[in-house]
Amino acid sequence: MNQKILEIQHLTKIYGKDKKAVDDLSLCVYAGDIYGFIGQNGAGKTTTLRAVTGVLEFDAGEIFIDGHSIRKEPVACKSVTAYIPDNPDLYEFLTGVQYLNYIGDIFGVKKSLRSERIQKYADMFRIAGDLGSLIGSFSHGMKQKLAIIGALLHAPKLMVLDEPFVGLDPEAAFKLKQVFREICDNGSAIFFSTHVLDVAEKLCNKIAIIQSGKLIADGETETVRGNESLESVFLEVLENHAR
Ligand code: ATP
Repeated sequence: MNQKILEIQHLTKIYGKDKKAVDDLSLCVYAGDIYGFIGQNGAGKTTTLRAVTGVLEFDAGEIFIDGHSIRKEPVACKSVTAYIPDNPDLYEFLTGVQYLNYIGDIFGVKKSLRSERIQKYADMFRIAGDLGSLIGSFSHGMKQKLAIIGALLHAPKLMVLDEPFVGLDPEAAFKLKQVFREICDNGSAIFFSTHVLDVAEKLCNKIAIIQSGKLIADGETETVRGNESLESVFLEVLENHAR
């Protein structure tokens, strides 16, 4: 699978007059990749993910999703992408099932496929019994699970997630990793940020490390890590680039 799903070319984002949050960052995510994006607090991960998903304008560079420019063809990009921010802000006045149907309508998911997928993922994340309740009554973890089911409902080619494992119970985190593998085996791609290096090391076939807006290491996980743990490499690389 060497189809390019996401291509970031020389991305630069400046907040205000001179806060360069992302600085000339380029990387590619291919079909089948589970791509982990790691870096310290404030390194520029969320900014990059928001630029990729078209919710944040950027100052220079280009981003292509499935061959379409996020700037020039945002609808084509968004129709094949699912984005789960670190704190999903869902419609609190809808019930879980109303929200999922709303997502299904937006992405044109056929009714039969929709109920099949809702049932599969709601059972998997043990939230089926709660879907009739208002989202406003959901816990943080339940909202996250609902956002994940909404994302999976339209079988996106690219899933972009910001810290997806924070706040999930251990079983849900395990299931999410299984789902990542399943959808990537079927030709989709995942690009996600995480601070959990252990997860990144075990789950991701590719890793990128960002520091102060700059990409300082990227590639196959095994190559990035060499014979060391990802944690040691991460700390070493940060130290070397801080000098
Ligand atoms: P964390 O791991 O803490 O979530 P991050 O790697 O996701 O961090 P970003 O949120 O992308 O980092 O922030 C990158 C830099 O840009 C930080 O210095 C942050 O203070 C700054 N920044 C982010 N959003 C804004 C904004 N709206 N206005 C000004 N500066 C911002």
